[in-house]
Amino acid sequence: MRLAIVSPCYNEQDVLKDSAERLTVFFESLIHKGKISSDSFILYVNDGSKDSTWNIINELYENNPYVWGVNLVCNVGHQNAIMAGMMTVKDTCDAVITIDSDLQDDLNAMEEMVDRFKEGYDVVYGVKVSREADPFLKRSMAVSYYKIQDKLGVKAIYNHADFRLMSRRALEQLSLYQEKNLYLRGIIPLMGYKSATVDDVISERTAGKSKYTLRKMLKLAIDGITSFSIRPMHLIFAMGLLFLLVTMLIFVYVLVSFFTHHIVPGWTSLMLSVWFIGSVIMLSIGVVGEYIGKMYIEVKHRPLYNVDKILDKELKDSLSEAKSKVK
Ligand code: UDP
Ligand code: MG
Repeated sequence: MRLAIVSPCYNEQDVLKDSAERLTVFFESLIHKGKISSDSFILYVNDGSKDSTWNIINELYENNPYVWGVNLVCNVGHQNAIMAGMMTVKDTCDAVITIDSDLQDDLNAMEEMVDRFKEGYDVVYGVKVSREADPFLKRSMAVSYYKIQDKLGVKAIYNHADFRLMSRRALEQLSLYQEKNLYLRGIIPLMGYKSATVDDVISERTAGKSKYTLRKMLKLAIDGITSFSIRPMHLIFAMGLLFLLVTMLIFVYVLVSFFTHHIVPGWTSLMLSVWFIGSVIMLSIGVVGEYIGKMYIEVKHRPLYNVDKILDKELKDSLSEAKSKVK
C-alpha cells in the first residue's frame, strides 16, 4: 500500500526540520513492518509562508527520499491548503493521511489508521482523546461549538480536527465537491463512506506559535455551520410565528388597558402596529430565507449520490486488478 502524508505548513520554519525527521523515522518503521510500501511519501504543502519554510522544504526534498513539496503562491488557509495537497496526490497513492506539520497529533494513531484502511474503511478519523494541551478557553469553546453544530444538524465528528486517513476513492469523490467555503470536517462525513475512528493523544507544539489566528478560527467556525445548515433561517420563521402569538396577547392587554386605564392617546394603535408589523416582517424574512436556502443548496452542486460498488461483468476484471494493486 502506497501511503501519502499531506502536511500543510504556514510559517513553520521552527518545526519543519524536526517534524520531517520524526515523520521519516516513523515512516521507516512502517515500511520495515511491511505496512506501507517503500515508495510512500510525505507531501509538504507550503501555504504562502513568509519565512523560509519553502527553502526548508526544498532542502528536505533534496536530502530526504520520502519528502515531496508543493508551493502555493499565496496564503489560502489551512482547509484549502489540505485540499490542494490531497488533490495533488490523489492519483498517485492508495490512501492519504492529513496531519498538521507541528505534529501535535499522535503519530502512533497513523499506524492504526493504516490498519483500519486495510480492514476496508475508506475514512479513518483521528479523535482527540484529551485536549489538555489546548488552552482552557479554546478547549471549552471547541466543546460548546461541537454541541451547537450538532443541534443545527451538521454531521461532524466530535473532537475531530483534520487528522484523518482517506482512501483513494474517497478522495476521488471529494474532488467532486467544488464548494469554496471549505469545511472538510463537515463534507467528509456527508459523503457517507464506511468510517472508523482512532484515538489521537494531542501533545504541545514543540516550537513556533499557533498559526490559527482568532480571525481564521472564527471564519472556520462560521463556515462549519453556514456551509451545511439552513436551520438558522428556519429559526427566523419560527421566531416570526412566536412574535405573532405574542402580538395576540399584547392585543388583549392593550384592549384591557384601553378600557380600564387612562392611557396616552395613540399608545394603543402604536403598540399593536409595532408588534404586528414586527412579526409580519420576521415571517417574510423567514419565507425569503427559505428560498435563498434552497438556492444556496443548489449552487453548491454537491454530488447527489456516491457509488460504492458496481456489479458489472465488464468491469469485473479491472476492479480485481485495482484491488490487487492496493494489497
Ligand atoms: N496552516 C496553514 N495555513 C494557515 C494557517 C495554518 O497551512 O493559514 C497550517 C499550520 O502550518 C499547521 C496547521 O495548519 O500545520 C494547523 O495550524 P496550527 O498548528 O497553528 O493550529 P492549532 O494547532 O494551534 O489549532
Ligand atoms: Mg497545531
